[in-house]
Amino acid sequence: MGNNIQAPRGTYDVLPDQSAKWQEIEAKIIELCRLYQYKEIRTPIFEHTELFQRGVGDTTDIVTKEMYTFKDRGDRSLTLRPEGTASVVRSFVENKLFGLPDQPVKLFYTGPMFRYERPQAGRMRQFVQFGVEAIGSKDPAIDAEVISLAMELYASLGLKRLRLVINSLGDTESRIAHKEALVAHFAPRINEFCNDCQTRLEKNPLRILDCKVDRDHPLMATAPSLADYLNEESQAYFTEVKGYIEELGIDYVVDPNLVRGLDYYNHTAFEIMSDAEGFGAITTLCGGGRYNGLVEDLGGPEAPGIGFAMSIERLLLALQMEEVEIGSSDALGVYVIAMDESAKKQAFRIVKDLRANGISADMDYTGRKLKAQMKSADRKGAEYVIVIGETELANGKAALKEMATGGQQEVLFADIAAEIKNKKSLEE
Ligand code: ATP
Ligand code: MG
Repeated sequence: MGNNIQAPRGTYDVLPDQSAKWQEIEAKIIELCRLYQYKEIRTPIFEHTELFQRGVGDTTDIVTKEMYTFKDRGDRSLTLRPEGTASVVRSFVENKLFGLPDQPVKLFYTGPMFRYERPQAGRMRQFVQFGVEAIGSKDPAIDAEVISLAMELYASLGLKRLRLVINSLGDTESRIAHKEALVAHFAPRINEFCNDCQTRLEKNPLRILDCKVDRDHPLMATAPSLADYLNEESQAYFTEVKGYIEELGIDYVVDPNLVRGLDYYNHTAFEIMSDAEGFGAITTLCGGGRYNGLVEDLGGPEAPGIGFAMSIERLLLALQMEEVEIGSSDALGVYVIAMDESAKKQAFRIVKDLRANGISADMDYTGRKLKAQMKSADRKGAEYVIVIGETELANGKAALKEMATGGQQEVLFADIAAEIKNKKSLEE
């Protein structure tokens, strides 16, 4: 045998003992989005590279260092999507969703994203993001709605150690004023900064504040704060957003240094962090913000938007750190044991009947003895066990054993499904 092939670095398999957790999270996402009336959108996994250069921004880490870009056989430059917003906005423009009578258009997506990163816990090269976008409104109430949807997903799964951090990046006018101040601040000593920052100074000085290499340079701490450059309108908008968040009873802290890694944000920016112990360096669970102007940048009409994205990987980490158990929904209902070959057909029929009645059921397919089958039922966490042998076949009935209590009850083969349903309805 040759060398075994392994999954590429930064990727992983979701194995069967973990997949119920994913399904439970995905079910929660679907349910929550139904309550909030965000409809699912599914866009391609790859797009024209230019979409991300324009939509995410030429100076971002994502575009400069992290994209999986390749030429297809027709010599087009394509990129595996590193995030969802650019694709959603492209689709919004291409399919003229701005023409729908009901605005804003409220969308959600879940799916794999790809970034060439240094893999570590909570930082993968292929990871799954859930995100929402509300496009076509600049009402501060929708900012609060989007934030609360993210918070509610975490809370509904049982997370408690959450911290919402918000900031305002202001409108274009405020940002230009701030940008000029930043250039004046950094320009005289820019040669002390990394190459990336030297490029950023010209293209997007705000990015310098987000630099992971130069974060301890003394000029960082004294850099002009955006908060001091917000014009009246931007301040008023931020005040309203905060008011709506308070209305929802959500606690938050304002962090004037929160800038976020993507170029397209303005006004509201937010992150949700985990304060769970043992989380390590990466504590951001979710990031989002407002992107007025992005739809126009991608060729559409004026349609202000806001959204967030979170990865399921970091959500799972947070659940683990807070010791919250989820994913019991795939537990086995009934394990049916055939004592010998002659009982197998009857066992097979009962399994079929249970499944037809919406009760999960399983049996042995490897010819094991009673004891081994019993162990198997235990391992699978079966709620009930039925053993069928000669006597049972002769009487047309079997003992239905409830594993949690050890209680037994004789039931006719034909009544097993009905009896279990009856017991379940009594429990509820
Ligand atoms: P970070 O600063 O941690 O690199 P980011 O600013 O690149 O995050 P966004 O692009 O805003 O992150 O993505 C939103 C969310 O997606 C993050 O808050 C995080 O939950 C998740 N995320 C981002 N990159 C990865 C990754 N490589 N692996 C797993 N999850 C990720
Ligand atoms: Mg990143």
